[in-house]
Amino acid sequence: MWRRGVQNFSRRLAGTNDSTTSARNTATALAAFSAASATAWYTAKPSAQCDGFPALRRTGSTARTPDAAAFQGDAAAEAAMMSCASLAVAYQQAKAEVATVKAELQFVQDKYDYFWPRKIMMLFGAPGAGKGTQGPNITNTLGLPQLSTGDMLRDAVAAGTPTGVRAKEAMESGSLVTDDIVIGIISDRIKEADCGAGFILDGFPRTIEQAEALDKLLLQTGERVNLILAFDVPEEVLEERVCGRWMHKGSGRSYHVKFAPPRSMELDRNGQPIPLTMKDDETGEALYQRSDDTKEALKKRMAAYHKQTEPLLEHYRPKGIVKDIDGGQPIEKVTRAVMNSMSKQAMKH
Ligand code: AMP
Repeated sequence: MWRRGVQNFSRRLAGTNDSTTSARNTATALAAFSAASATAWYTAKPSAQCDGFPALRRTGSTARTPDAAAFQGDAAAEAAMMSCASLAVAYQQAKAEVATVKAELQFVQDKYDYFWPRKIMMLFGAPGAGKGTQGPNITNTLGLPQLSTGDMLRDAVAAGTPTGVRAKEAMESGSLVTDDIVIGIISDRIKEADCGAGFILDGFPRTIEQAEALDKLLLQTGERVNLILAFDVPEEVLEERVCGRWMHKGSGRSYHVKFAPPRSMELDRNGQPIPLTMKDDETGEALYQRSDDTKEALKKRMAAYHKQTEPLLEHYRPKGIVKDIDGGQPIEKVTRAVMNSMSKQAMKH
């Protein structure tokens, strides 16, 4: 009866959303059933039916009164019930403690949301400087989303939305799309829930007008950009990086035929990668090359960078929030430099 009862409890709880694993279901069932059994045992000792579990079987007594002598043989059963009951109590206590810790965490989170400003970072650098490579590391470390206007625009172009239709031509030729488009996209995006603790801007702002619009937008909530990581990479390195780059659409992970090839890469007789073998290491999905990652488009992108984007650093430098990173080093060294520059210690210098 006892074991059957536990099994029934387990089965019933497994059918509810109360627990996520069968082990937890079983423990919950055991504890709950034990508590119920113990209570029943003490309140209805005289008529208890204990078939199927020898330790609970009465020792020949037919007594109906709950005097101690009549239940001498039941000591072992009572001890078992007591230990189950204390298990149930311990379980309830642990559950209460978890609830308390959860409430405390929520309190800290609410306080953070209410009083502290968001961490607003910007990745700054020419095409191929390493923004797309380092961004995911920061996301993994701090849990902040990386907001790449380039990715958002590419999605809009692929989906054929009105924004995508307006942006397509400029993007393919390597020119900048108009300020109103990107400002509109970013001002909507930073209001989304996942930006609650902050965000990482990648590829925005790219003109003084965009920077001023961003400053104004943040000022509405008493915020400002707190940290800019400026990647400096020699121009000759950029071309090699950009023209050998392959991307994974779903994650934004980037690979390079020479510096960071995917595990699946195979080369043809001329030493060129075979497109069908270019697959994401984690998902096995096909990689793609951006249509503007060509020598010709890069020339135009670099010209736009020097003329319209580079001057932005001088807009932000006096605020003391720009950290220069030597982006020409091997990836691991750049990653280390990025992590160091984000520490509180680095902020003091
Ligand atoms: P990215 O992926 O950042 O290299 O951006 C790819 C292309 O998207 C750029 O060459 C521009 O055509 C367009 N784009 C991305 N961000 C912006 C921006 N903030 N302002 C104007 N155009 C942008």
